[in-house]
Order: sequence, then structure tokens, then C-alpha cells
Amino acid sequence: MRRIILIFILAIACVLAASSAHADKTRIVAATSDLGYFASQIGGELVEVDVIASGNRDVHYIEVLPSYMLKVRRAHVYLKVGLELDLWSQPIIDGSRNGGLKVIDCSEGIAPLEVPTFKADARYGDLHQFGNPHYWLSPDNVPAICNNIIGALIHVDPANAARYEANREAYLARLNSRIAEWETLKRELSGIGFVAYHNSWPYFCQYFGCHVVDFVEEFAGVAPSPSHVAHLIEHIKIDNIPVVASQPFHDKRLPKLVSEKTGCRAIILPTSVGGVPGTETYEDLIDFITKSLIEAAKGA
Ligand SMILES: [Zn+2]
Repeated sequence: MRRIILIFILAIACVLAASSAHADKTRIVAATSDLGYFASQIGGELVEVDVIASGNRDVHYIEVLPSYMLKVRRAHVYLKVGLELDLWSQPIIDGSRNGGLKVIDCSEGIAPLEVPTFKADARYGDLHQFGNPHYWLSPDNVPAICNNIIGALIHVDPANAARYEANREAYLARLNSRIAEWETLKRELSGIGFVAYHNSWPYFCQYFGCHVVDFVEEFAGVAPSPSHVAHLIEHIKIDNIPVVASQPFHDKRLPKLVSEKTGCRAIILPTSVGGVPGTETYEDLIDFITKSLIEAAKGA
């Protein structure tokens, strides 16, 4: 009997120890899977990361749910994409009523591309007044994103600053070794033109030297008109454009139609970590995008 009681006490002690270790962690809620990935690289064992928009979701349109507010209520840090991409983050943060939450805009320190020089109205769809918000797709922007994240972590958990710094150094070293490998892909991608469903690619293209020559969407976030689609088909035929790339959540019918009418290849390119199987890390995501584009452009 004494033995049973002892085992019972030990079991309770284990549960308590485990839950207090859990409670000690810095809890991060990231708006997207990409920011969540970077946060877990820097935070390692010291953090618990939750993500609002998984990699196969359209980050422009996320419904604000009470369950997200509950997640944020017990968090220490919230990571926003910024540049107006995740406008839904603010109502989630407000609804969480978490006065101690450290909110970080991960676009701080990024040089935005395509900042409109005119006042865009509703006709231009989700054109963003501070510039194109898909900045994480350039590996050049990752150090700035990591800088923002580590700033937040050290703010809420200064005792572990050295460990966060060491994790960041180790991660950036891993990223740099992949960047060295991407130099070959850069040469292969350089000069390739493709049609994109949505304007998610300026940072990626600036880095890899490829370019988007036309869009399936006439205006960002707005369904294209039949005349725009006819125009697009003509454009692809005349310039012999090899690829039309959509994201996992886009309507497949239009790219399929365009592909059938022109012979260009319709492919799916994810824009976030976990968007398709095999893209569970940022490095694998970039690898997947570059290799898919090269393969499709060559095969067409
Ligand atoms: Zn967009």
C-alpha cells in the first residue's frame, strides 16, 4: 500500500513539474505559419508557438474567431505580418483583452516594394497603401524579421537573452548554407517570366531575378472579368509565357482554362510554410517554389 501511495505521489509530482515547465515557456501567437516558424527557430525550447493562419490559408482573408482571441489571451507575444496584410490581427488582439501582450509588427525594418504613388480606392481591390506585404518570400528579409521577433522575446524574457541570440545565430547560419545552394537556382530562374494568380511575388522575384508578366486577377483580391481573361490568354500566346502559378487556396478553374487555351503549365506555388506537403520549413518552402518554377518553365 505504501508503495502505491509513493508511486501516486511521484506521478502527481511529475505532472506538476511538467505543467510548470510548460507554464514557464514564453507563449507566442503568430499571425502566419512563416512567422511561427521563425519564432520557433529563435525560441527553441523556451517558447510555445501557436499560429492563426496555417500555410494553406489565404492570409488576406481570415475570419476573426473567438477561439483565436482565447489563444491570444494567454500569450506573451503576438507577431503580426503588418503592411496591412493581416488587418484581422488587430480585432483578435483587441478581443483577447490581454493588457500584457507584446505586439510586434514583423515588417519593421523591411524596405517595402510597390508602394502606390496614388490614392487607391476600392476599385483596386486589396492594394496596400504601405506597399506589397508579401515580404517574407525574399530570403534577404529574413534577418530583419528575426530581429523583430528576438526583440519581442528579449522584452518579455530578458533572462534568456543569450539563448535567444545563440538560437538566432544558429538559425541564420543554417539559412545561409541554403542561400549558398540557391545561387545555382538563382541563375536558372533569372529571366523567367510567369503569370501569377495574385501579386504575391515581387520580393521573391527581386531576389531570384525572375518576373511576373501578368496576373490572373485584374485587381488584387477581385475576381477577373471575362475581358481580362481573354486578354490574358492572348498575352500568354503572343509572348509564349510558360507558366501560370496559383496558390493552394485559389480557384483552380481559371488557371486550368488558361492552360488549356494556351498550352502554358498551371502549377501550384505555396507562399507560406506548410502550404503544401514538403514545405514544413521556410528553407524547404523556398526550395519548393524555385524548383517547381524552373521545372515548369523548362518543361513547357
Ligand atoms: Zn496580397
